[in-house]
Amino acid sequence: MSDFRFRLLENGLDSIASALESLGGKARARAIKRAIRDLGTGAELLFKECLRRAHWTQIYRDPDKADRSAYDAGKIDDTATFEQCLRRLEKICSIAFDDKQRQVLNSLRRARNDIEHFEVNMPMQRAVAVASRAAIVLLDFVHEHLEASALEPAEAQLVEEIRRSLAPCERLVTERWKAIRKEIDAAVVPVVPCPLCTQEAALVEDGLDCRFCTLRVSDPATAADLYVTEVFGECYYRVFKHGGCWPVEQCPSCGRSSLLNRSRESSSAAFVCFSCSGEWSIRELKSCEKCDERCGAEADGFALCDNCRGWLAAS
Ligand SMILES: [Zn+2]
Ligand SMILES: [Zn+2]
Ligand SMILES: [Zn+2]
Repeated sequence: MSDFRFRLLENGLDSIASALESLGGKARARAIKRAIRDLGTGAELLFKECLRRAHWTQIYRDPDKADRSAYDAGKIDDTATFEQCLRRLEKICSIAFDDKQRQVLNSLRRARNDIEHFEVNMPMQRAVAVASRAAIVLLDFVHEHLEASALEPAEAQLVEEIRRSLAPCERLVTERWKAIRKEIDAAVVPVVPCPLCTQEAALVEDGLDCRFCTLRVSDPATAADLYVTEVFGECYYRVFKHGGCWPVEQCPSCGRSSLLNRSRESSSAAFVCFSCSGEWSIRELKSCEKCDERCGAEADGFALCDNCRGWLAAS
């Protein structure tokens, strides 16, 4: 049983990961066909994992004929079709696809059937668009309906791999940005490059929330550390061994240790706090002249933290 569960979700994610690999390479007809086939397979497996979570019999074409002992032995055949899966997700799991998503999934289903049954004569551009849009719908599906529950390490690793492999898929990047551009431009919190997908689409708010790849890190300090390891390529052990300084500090505004010092890549947004969303330029935030703590700077660049200021006034 656990073995089967494992295979369903892991295989589904594995198919999506391999589809992105094909999609991110040279746009050769064979690679695009492979991507569409993998996405179709991946979609079906992910959908079945969702249905299985609702009830194991729902993965069968005819749930009346489901046989528990065969299921437990991993002997599963005659499972639900793509259309049945979609219908059941909506009716049984209350998963609502919007019109656009349904349209994309239907194009994927048709394209995959065509590939499997005939020689497809779809223009390359159109095939790449179908695959790219489908990959986005499935990425959102994983985030919204599967990722919320604890993933096995191998599954979590595949989801990470999927996020990392989005950037080279040019059409996918264009399509996704069309959908998120407005929100990112209107964001009232700082936006930084995402540690996994590398797109400048990660909102800094109670941790990190990437609108491009759906990565969500809800612990602010973990989010700041992830940024340092992935974007700066720093390693905690190496930094301390060589007497360096880990660029995550205490925030002068909220007091939490989630202030990322990114002055090496930006002077206007040199300090960003992953807890309170505070943002300071390199000029606005200095080290206290007395104790070295981060604090706001005066117009002439002089900086004294509240503690030291109070101490000086009292003495
Ligand atoms: Zn991302
Ligand atoms: Zn803060
Ligand atoms: Zn001080």
